Amino acid sequence: MGSAPSITLFGAAGEVTGSCTLVECGAGRVLVDFGLFQGSPAEEWRNADAPPFDAPSLDAVVVTHAHVDHCGRLGMLPRLGFRGAVIATEATARLLPRVLRGSASLQATRLTEFETGTMPIARVIDPEPNSAAIERLTRRRSPPVIYDHREAEAISSRIEPLAYDAWRSIRPGLRVRLHDASHILGSASVEIECAVNGGAARRILCSGDLGPSTPSLLRVRASPPAVDVVIMESTNGAKRFGAPAEIDHALGEVLDRAASRGGRVLMPTFSLGRAQNLLHRLARLRANGRLHGLPVYLDSPMAVFASELHARYPELLNESLRESVLRGDDPLQFPELHPLHSRRQSLKVERRRGAAIILAGSGFCDAGPILHHLAGAIEEPTTEVVLAGHQIDGTLGHGLAADAKRIQIGNAILEVRATRTKLELLSGHADQSELLAWARSLRPSPTMFVLNHGTQRARAVIAELLSAEANASVRLPMPAETVAT
Ligand SMILES: [Zn+2]
Repeated sequence: MGSAPSITLFGAAGEVTGSCTLVECGAGRVLVDFGLFQGSPAEEWRNADAPPFDAPSLDAVVVTHAHVDHCGRLGMLPRLGFRGAVIATEATARLLPRVLRGSASLQATRLTEFETGTMPIARVIDPEPNSAAIERLTRRRSPPVIYDHREAEAISSRIEPLAYDAWRSIRPGLRVRLHDASHILGSASVEIECAVNGGAARRILCSGDLGPSTPSLLRVRASPPAVDVVIMESTNGAKRFGAPAEIDHALGEVLDRAASRGGRVLMPTFSLGRAQNLLHRLARLRANGRLHGLPVYLDSPMAVFASELHARYPELLNESLRESVLRGDDPLQFPELHPLHSRRQSLKVERRRGAAIILAGSGFCDAGPILHHLAGAIEEPTTEVVLAGHQIDGTLGHGLAADAKRIQIGNAILEVRATRTKLELLSGHADQSELLAWARSLRPSPTMFVLNHGTQRARAVIAELLSAEANASVRLPMPAETVAT
């Protein structure tokens, strides 16, 4: 057995990307998540640094979910000498190989674009770009390539699915189990139990990303288990959201306008979670006669794959969706929905005029097929652009949400005449009150909270609220700072 566990954050410490948490105790060492840093070119280069932990001595890596800021560096592990198991829920285990292959392809493509001077240009011209936008667009160094397809395949061969709520022994005195986090399909909080010399075993819970308490698509998560220490995400620690019904109302109005004016509806979206959430809302509006027969194009092979995967896990969906799957329906499919699998299909849809709804990546409008859809339609007053969730400062999505008047995509300078609808409430994360409610549901109260995955401000706000009501120490470690529990 051994000494009490310690916790070190090697990413997502005072920021919202690069999740990577090491839990060490006398019985062994477990890494929870190994995600990409995302943002400016300088942020991206942090991914290329060798991580400051000894990969060969890790006993296992546990992945909370398939978003790249939690799993996107896994492909580095074979080269670093890691030989253990990568543990994830069954749905995450199905998503991960595709996500890692896609990430390897994207890294190679971006390097080629840099070397040939063909990187996509997507920026605001009027008003003048701010410093964050200029930093994003000023790339003096090539983008990093941190693993290739072969390495993505090598780490994928180490993935071992683990059912929710089942213990998996890692070493004598060290075991893990996964609890539903209701964030995206397959998302989990990770419970780690370490045997400690001369005392009861210590239990640590790493929340991973927590979804809203009443998710629109997924089942409501069960209460978290009794643990001693909690590592809690704090993405929305300083934000409170309103009623989710407002989102459907706003979307319904967008569809009504598009149908009556014959315009396009462009929805920049991410392929895991956000796309399925929007599809589910469109299916619901359709059931109420609000889709008006408009064709819906899902312009992302990854989003198509992830959407189809939902029907294979009815037990993870909310009650009405679960029943519809058990009746033989697929709640994320409807006759007007057309999956697009190639750039050729995507360009064909762009050239075809007329009313249509297009969901395409990237969600921040900084790359991907959304750029040619925007370039082809943003000058039309009948076009609707729906900007869902938080848009990172410096991206074209952020500029569009901030009412940019003129933009550049490729070589084209474009006047923005489209109507823009912001759905900031559409977040896959619990808001401040939901984070606090989750923390309160931990019974008995843990002795310590370690906050990660939030800006310094977000974690400071939630830390103050937690300290005021919980009889626990609340820690906000810096990157690579080790916290003894
Ligand atoms: Zn996530």
